[in-house]
Amino acid sequence: MTPSPSANSMQETKSSSAPSGPTTQADAQIIYNLPFNDLLYRAHGIHRANFDPNAVQMSRLLSVKTGGCAEDCGYCSQSAHYPTGLKASKLLEVERVLAEARKAKECGATRYCMGAAWRSPKDRDMDAIIAMVEGVRALGMETCMTLGMLTPQQSARLADAGLDYYNHNIDTSERFYSEIITTRSFADRLETLANVREAGIKVCAGGILGMGETAEDRISMLVTLANLPTPPESVPINMLIPIPGSRLANAQPIDPIDFVRTVALARILMPTSYVRLSAGRTDMSDETQALCFFAGANSIFVGETLLTADNPGEDQDAALFRRLGLNAQQLEQPE
Ligand code: SF4
Repeated sequence: MTPSPSANSMQETKSSSAPSGPTTQADAQIIYNLPFNDLLYRAHGIHRANFDPNAVQMSRLLSVKTGGCAEDCGYCSQSAHYPTGLKASKLLEVERVLAEARKAKECGATRYCMGAAWRSPKDRDMDAIIAMVEGVRALGMETCMTLGMLTPQQSARLADAGLDYYNHNIDTSERFYSEIITTRSFADRLETLANVREAGIKVCAGGILGMGETAEDRISMLVTLANLPTPPESVPINMLIPIPGSRLANAQPIDPIDFVRTVALARILMPTSYVRLSAGRTDMSDETQALCFFAGANSIFVGETLLTADNPGEDQDAALFRRLGLNAQQLEQPE
């Protein structure tokens, strides 16, 4: 994309406050297309006004049930629709999950995210899921789960168990959604987000870049999230890892500058949300990650795997943090 300076650019650059009222696609596009330096200056100002700019929240992700998923998400190694070579496995034992959570805590993670490759959880699995949430909370960590679509009843049970966050990505724009997934709709996604919010669980929702979407689709995805009745507390921004055998195996990589622009727009539209660099960091240069942190990203996944994908190892992250003078955010103790 070729950004063109807008007449409003300097005025917008000086502002470090959040947009007031609903964000329109047209306004968000103007911001996204600002000259890169103006965009980053604005995003960074908003970031500093709301967060310690040198602190990064660390989460650890564990796949508690891998592969064999009935959904046909075109980017996913775990969909049963594609010959990705991934071996499906059953739901892990609760004790095994808690042992992994203890290790993650020792390595500095403050939030433990547990993911299951399901369209939605079966009621028969809920007791084990609830035991995982309660066990991880008892270790003094924040808990997050991603289990697919949830009913209001399932959301309420998870809330009662003390689940802090529920991850449910909207993935892309409403317009582009059916190009990526056909087994559920964008509206289904929003319905689960509403159920989770209604139950009192914090929301983690973001998407994936580099699936062949346009810049307008990326902007639209962020506008949808920013305009939810309450924006998500956590916004993961993933860079597609093309999975051999999946429908998006040959997708063209996104320009890193456009990736940074999207992170900056997320920060500007959702000033108090954690913006997380999620999958795809192994394919990003240190310089791209540094620009993302400057633009407002302030959360990462740590550990060598993310569900089934590679992630930079702890040593690599520690070295990057040292070079950038970043530190791991400590968990605030609940009041
Ligand atoms: S992204 Fe989730 S819902 Fe989609 S196929 Fe993969 S595991 Fe299933």
